[in-house]
Amino acid sequence: MSTGVKRLEGATLRSWRVTVGAVVLVPFLGFLAAVVHLWGEVLRPADLLSFLGFYLFTGFGITVGYHRLFTHRGFVAVGPLRWLLAVAGSMAVQGPILRWAADHRRHHRHSDQPGDPHSPHVGEEDDLLGLLRGFAWAHLGWFFDAEKSRASVYAPDLLRDPLVRRVDRLYPLWIALSLGLPTWVGWLATGSADGALRGLLFAGFARVFFVQHVTWSVNSVCHLFGSRGYRTRDESRNHRPMAILALGEGWHNNHHAFPGSPRHGLDRGQWDPSWWLIRGLERLGLVREVRLPSPAALEGRRR
Ligand SMILES: [Zn+2]
Ligand SMILES: [Zn+2]
Repeated sequence: MSTGVKRLEGATLRSWRVTVGAVVLVPFLGFLAAVVHLWGEVLRPADLLSFLGFYLFTGFGITVGYHRLFTHRGFVAVGPLRWLLAVAGSMAVQGPILRWAADHRRHHRHSDQPGDPHSPHVGEEDDLLGLLRGFAWAHLGWFFDAEKSRASVYAPDLLRDPLVRRVDRLYPLWIALSLGLPTWVGWLATGSADGALRGLLFAGFARVFFVQHVTWSVNSVCHLFGSRGYRTRDESRNHRPMAILALGEGWHNNHHAFPGSPRHGLDRGQWDPSWWLIRGLERLGLVREVRLPSPAALEGRRR
């Protein structure tokens, strides 16, 4: 066994699984409650705008913040922007920043080989049952695994970063904000308890549910379905619908070929809203040292 993981046992493992079960189940139940509460009604512009606003804020928090900035160090951001991105990523309710980054770096280190925390391929047969089991494991089954990535092995740089440690420790506060802010916005927009409840259910719970499953689909869908434009030693794929939903992260084969690149949509016509945002922030002087692969490097890896 690699020393990069620690094994949970007994009561610790049981309480871990209950916690993770709640993180997966509660947003889903909240989404169902939103469907029931809003059934037969036309969604108001305030509901839709709030949903979209929080979807983009927390979605970019994951893609631009957690993933491209903190995990892969694809660019450098000014202090207040680092704070904002770390908090926005935490508000997506996909785990505190240190654990997310350590798991993801372990995924890149062992991609689709033994040691990868969420490969849909390792240990699965090449038939329909293997595909379904692999999909379920890569999507969310792996959260319940007893083996946990060690941040001291996979993210020592982030462990030394005071901002990251502080945001990591305050994780419960960011979850409370993630649900509390949309409730407050709903109350402000309508001045009614029903408006606040709609904000909580729709822009709160249902939005957390969507952002979670879109991110998790990058691990499941984008290692099973789609095209491979660049040579990599794994099964990563480019998947256009996922690229749109996941704000550019669906160009996952490109990403595995050039993990340090903050631009994932590397070829013509590959929309990458997270990259557009990084470019915009660079023009505003809030981001610098953007590391992009050279045209020669791209050509060298093309299949
Ligand atoms: Zn991957
Ligand atoms: Zn990555």
